[in-house]
Amino acid sequence: MTISQAHVLPHEQALIRFDWDTAQNRLKSALGEATYKSWLSQLEFHDVVSGVLILRAPTRFVKDWVLTNCQAVLEQTFRALDPSIFKVDVIVSAEIKKMPSTLHVVEAAEPAEMPLPSVGVREYESEWKEGDRDFVGSALDPRFTFENFVVGKPNELAYAAARRVAESDEVTFNPLFLYGGVGLGKTHLMHAIAWHIKRMRPNRKVIYLSAEKFMYQFIRALRFKDTVAFKEQFRSVDVLMIDDVQFISGKDSTQEEFFHTFNALVDQNRQIIVSADKSPSDLEGMEERMKSRLGWGLVADVHPTTYELRLGILQAKAEKMASAVPQQVIEFLAHKITSNVRELEGALTRIVAYATLVGRSITVEMTQEALRDLLRANDRQVTIDHIQKKVAEHFNVRIADMHSSRRLRNVARPRQVAMFLVKNLTTHSLPEIGRKFGGRDHTTVMHAVKKVEELMVEDATFREDIELLKRMLQS
Ligand code: ADP
Ligand code: MG
Repeated sequence: MTISQAHVLPHEQALIRFDWDTAQNRLKSALGEATYKSWLSQLEFHDVVSGVLILRAPTRFVKDWVLTNCQAVLEQTFRALDPSIFKVDVIVSAEIKKMPSTLHVVEAAEPAEMPLPSVGVREYESEWKEGDRDFVGSALDPRFTFENFVVGKPNELAYAAARRVAESDEVTFNPLFLYGGVGLGKTHLMHAIAWHIKRMRPNRKVIYLSAEKFMYQFIRALRFKDTVAFKEQFRSVDVLMIDDVQFISGKDSTQEEFFHTFNALVDQNRQIIVSADKSPSDLEGMEERMKSRLGWGLVADVHPTTYELRLGILQAKAEKMASAVPQQVIEFLAHKITSNVRELEGALTRIVAYATLVGRSITVEMTQEALRDLLRANDRQVTIDHIQKKVAEHFNVRIADMHSSRRLRNVARPRQVAMFLVKNLTTHSLPEIGRKFGGRDHTTVMHAVKKVEELMVEDATFREDIELLKRMLQS
């Protein structure tokens, strides 16, 4: 995949269900031209195996760098385009022995007839699949450990609770419910619990997966009339972790199944850990009994970061980077990038990449230059013009189409999305928004907002797409 089309051979393209150019454009805008050019352009598409999109890097150095710095963005980007991709991994070209070309086990393959992986793939899978082809969980990120988690006021409760659950022999509170905004460390803490238990009590069965994946597996089990096995899998674990449980809000049958699994495990005194973006009582579209169940144990929230915490995190991350990052730059970033930790990491990555690329040492001036767009966005409110521009870029339509009266779906939809985002990210009134979109009526804007909200409920891909855009605009 260079991420250039020329490198995607026809048979490779058949494996991905999205447009490669779109993926590239999104990666460019998410990571910046410099990072993209100096690192991502060296990658090639390799394979898709069981929902893992595998890329090839020329050297181990590039692989490590990309995994450390861009994995989350890669995963977000590809998942937004194809929800069956739940992980992105990188392998080193030179280390591929004989990779079979025929084996492309995509998640939706018949579970009973999954072909046995041959050598290369099996070796690869053992890195993330626990060597068990029936393994239902998601992969754990090796960087998300307690050791790598920086503790401060905003996350100390969540951290203490996570440690307690990881270390104790008995189930003290059930479930542990972690909640907070995007990019504040919830997933990191859950993986850390899993790693700790795996190390200290390897015979305990721990399953970590996103609520999305839970739903996906459940639907697949229904489709293949295999719900008994599905139930067995989940009900035989010692520790079950479900990440981003808000995802199953409004998904009634998945919720029902989760509720039963939940109760069965609690009855057997097994530990459950759940994360969400809101507290149990604020989870809209979640049944009352589920909300109340979720609030039974310990509810711990992760607050937005403080300056001190950001400083601590940056220092820890900077130590692991290839180039030296001066203290003034770290302080500058901690002051300026206040949104969340993911952004903060992204900023640091970008300046290191930029410095490598232009062969300069890292200074505050250079940081201002490299992060100009990001800093500006953190400084001011997003504007209507900016939203229109980004949405147009994202959907590959002209900015003029934001104002035009063309009603074709392929321009009308992006326009509706832009209106929705303006309503959500700015304080403009409906009539003002209408005026800025080619003099439309406020009821048109209202309709657009409603339409997008409906689509977000109905269509997970669409929703991910919008959320990605929103994050990009806020970053
Ligand atoms: P969430 O699940 O809450 O959206 P993540 O756990 O995915 O957030 O965190 C986003 C990124 O920020 C990850 O790379 C994670 O390692 C990092 N991160 C978040 N909080 C911390 C922390 N306290 N110390 C170190 N890294 C952190
Ligand atoms: Mg998360």
